[in-house]
Amino acid sequence: MKCDNCDKAAVITLQHGSLCKSHFINYFESKVFKTINKFKLIGRDENLCIATSGGKDSLTVLYLTKKYLKRYNNNSTLFALAVDEGITNYREQTLLDLKAFCNKHNVTLHVVSNKEEFGKTLDEAYPILKKKKPCNVCGVWRRYLLNKHARRLKASKVVTGHNLDDEAQVVLMNVFKANTKLAGRLGPISGIEENELFVQRVKPLYFCSEKEVRLYTLLKGFDVQFTECPYSQEGYRYVIQDLLNAMENKYKGTKQGIIHSFLDLLPLLQERERGRVGEVGKCSLCNEPCQTASREPAQCNACLMKEAVNAI
Ligand code: SF4
Repeated sequence: MKCDNCDKAAVITLQHGSLCKSHFINYFESKVFKTINKFKLIGRDENLCIATSGGKDSLTVLYLTKKYLKRYNNNSTLFALAVDEGITNYREQTLLDLKAFCNKHNVTLHVVSNKEEFGKTLDEAYPILKKKKPCNVCGVWRRYLLNKHARRLKASKVVTGHNLDDEAQVVLMNVFKANTKLAGRLGPISGIEENELFVQRVKPLYFCSEKEVRLYTLLKGFDVQFTECPYSQEGYRYVIQDLLNAMENKYKGTKQGIIHSFLDLLPLLQERERGRVGEVGKCSLCNEPCQTASREPAQCNACLMKEAVNAI
């Protein structure tokens, strides 16, 4: 098959046609840059914290954010921040890839870990918290560490590698669980109201499918493992991912349809939640943000889990 724009062989067929390597790379990069511009994800004079893991999404968003700053003559600075959850036979290698990538692209990398912060790795912690799946523990601790250390490092925003598949999965999960409150916090810019305790999170790969990101990293020759976390199949998300992939195979454009419908509804969801957001206070143990209304004295979920896993 040939590229729709030239005589070269196509590397991918998208809804609007087939593209060769160089036309796909141009298409992909300009889609990311347009997302940044349209949603004003990056301003000038920012200090950007790129949330990285060493996987394809985070390396792509790191590379393209750097390229964006250069192309638009934007004098913002950036650094990479990684969380070592402590997942044997998985995270060690992706962190090695990440270190090599940051060295090659001259990016400062900070690594923080569950073990240092909470006293236990994820592998050690989740069996103690019997009612929690690994992804539940991982998600709470990861968000906590990213926010805490991004703030410590004086970041103005956290840039994440969430792609269109990730977002479509979460939208559907929230619909299935009737969690419209959380849905209002999604979108290319996370959160409903700005709060000095939370560093705002932005998602430049919002309209890029997983398939496109994977192909981009391959064509660019990024040294990246395509291995999955050993816990990924245990989460609710995995079921939704399977369901969405099956739908997409049969009905092309399903995932994009979910995202576009969701973006149409997002202002309504945000408006409704704006007045309902509970008071954000500080955890009495760590001073990080938490919803104060839920318990007295205020204690964040990350500290509750930390206490539980270290009580034995
Ligand atoms: Fe964490 Fe679950 Fe993702 Fe693994 S799959 S990194 S446990 S959230």
